[in-house]
Amino acid sequence: MKVDIEKYDVVIIGAGVIGSAVARELSRYKISAALLDKETDAAEGISKANSGVIHAGFNVKPGSLKAKFNLEGLTELPKLADELGVEYRFCKKLVVGQTGEEKKILEKLLGQGIKNSVPGLSIIGRKEIEKIQPNLTAEWALFSEKTGIVTPYLFTIALAENAHKNGVEVKLKSEVTSINKNKDGSYRIGINNKKFINCDWVINAAGLFSDKTAKMAGEDIGSVYPCRGEYFILDKRAGKELDTAVYPVPCRDNRGLGIHLTPTLNGNILIGPSAEYIDETMDRSTTAEVMYQLKREAFELMPQLSKYSFIRSFSGIRPKLFNSNSNEKFADFYIKESEVNPGFVNLHGIESPGLTSAPAIARYVVENIIGNKRDLREKEVFFPTWEKIERFNKFGYRTKDIYIKSDRNYSKLICRCEEITEAEVLKAINNPINAVSLDAVKKRTHSMMGRCQAGFCMSRIIELIKKEKKIPPTELVLNNMKSKVIFSMRKY
Ligand SMILES: Cc1cc2nc3c(=O)[nH]c(=O)nc-3n(C[C@H](O)[C@H](O)[C@H](O)COP(=O)(O)OP(=O)(O)OC[C@H]3O[C@@H](n4cnc5c(N)ncnc54)[C@H](O)[C@@H]3O)c2cc1C
Repeated sequence: MKVDIEKYDVVIIGAGVIGSAVARELSRYKISAALLDKETDAAEGISKANSGVIHAGFNVKPGSLKAKFNLEGLTELPKLADELGVEYRFCKKLVVGQTGEEKKILEKLLGQGIKNSVPGLSIIGRKEIEKIQPNLTAEWALFSEKTGIVTPYLFTIALAENAHKNGVEVKLKSEVTSINKNKDGSYRIGINNKKFINCDWVINAAGLFSDKTAKMAGEDIGSVYPCRGEYFILDKRAGKELDTAVYPVPCRDNRGLGIHLTPTLNGNILIGPSAEYIDETMDRSTTAEVMYQLKREAFELMPQLSKYSFIRSFSGIRPKLFNSNSNEKFADFYIKESEVNPGFVNLHGIESPGLTSAPAIARYVVENIIGNKRDLREKEVFFPTWEKIERFNKFGYRTKDIYIKSDRNYSKLICRCEEITEAEVLKAINNPINAVSLDAVKKRTHSMMGRCQAGFCMSRIIELIKKEKKIPPTELVLNNMKSKVIFSMRKY
């Protein structure tokens, strides 16, 4: 029996921020590409759960790829976000120290920042700190003007959806299960142990699984060691208290940047992340001990936070390139075309500042790696802007009125806490890359993210998905294919 095999110039494995940024960058050119992810949506891996900080670049080792791409990303991310229409904000950052010894660490960081040509850095004392961010316990701070925030999963989704609009085939629920070389040097990618795709280029942007994907092509690029970071989210009422990202002096073991307070664009505060090596790559649980530690350390930085509610915990996982017993303190991004497998590009160990660096990494992969070997001709027609779902509750009364007149579903409130309307939820359900899950709606609309944590709106959203997608509630998942939300229906 003859099997039809799809063929693309480029296959990108992984619809995290890195793979999606590569897809979006490629979509400017006359080149066929597919973006594959094993999950039900883009941004279901590391890119879903992180601090969302646009790093200024003083935490990274001078001369490293991390420094290069962080600094380039610092300029490119805002430009790309503007082009797509994704929200971000330069909220500024204070890395605070309490003692003379910590002040010396801050000065060292400043020196590193200067070496990296990071703009807008200075060491300030208590009085100036108080003017920028009141109510902190801090004697000294490294102040960074050029630190920002972005919603990481929304930025990733914008990249993937806009890449799709510009012709990239986005294939969700498509796990790469084998990679073989054809006689002509092209690659044959096996999907879900069922189908195959042929391609000339493979971009391995599989995040926590990049080592495994490389191995499928017969290449050992070293292991990924998962290191979990747990977070707490504070109620939006607390958000008014924090305008600036606040960090302690960084951990000496280089596992992470320490437990910090970060404002989100949605008005919440994130507290975290912790840093703990784990055995199971996707173990995203949160633990009572760490929650206690987060609260304690957050209150030390900003005592008045204790009066606000902690509404949810979550965790993200770092793809570390050394394990907990290693003496290594630094591992750089691993970004190269394979020497044994031409056309196979590994993006490996893309931990922080990977989000900030994503646009610069994508441009490098497309222009300097692919573009080095083949002609890249720009498309005559390119749609730069993402068709985002407007937040109805941010409009003034007049605009709300116009929207309601054009679509009555704007008058129906689905999520009370976040004030999300049925029209917004319907748009999210009918997203262009056909991501169907409760989290696909949550990430696109912010419904289910408020104080009641979906108590009111989830059942309504399940009903809407059932109606729009003809999916019975018992088959609907929260995010991955194993995360069913309803196991049986008593009344239907
Ligand atoms: C706790 C934490 C905090 C962070 N904070 C920041 C920050 O503030 N600022 C910053 O710049 N960076 C930060 N980072 C780093 C940043 O989040 C990552 O560098 C970035 O998200 C990595 O993206 P990725 O696309 O490489 O990986 P992912 O987002 O994990 O994407 C990889 C994708 O590949 C898919 N995949 C894997 N295997 C297969 C397969 N076989 N077939 C098909 N698909 C597959 C996965 O499903 C996944 O969607 C943080 C990271 C963590 C963990």
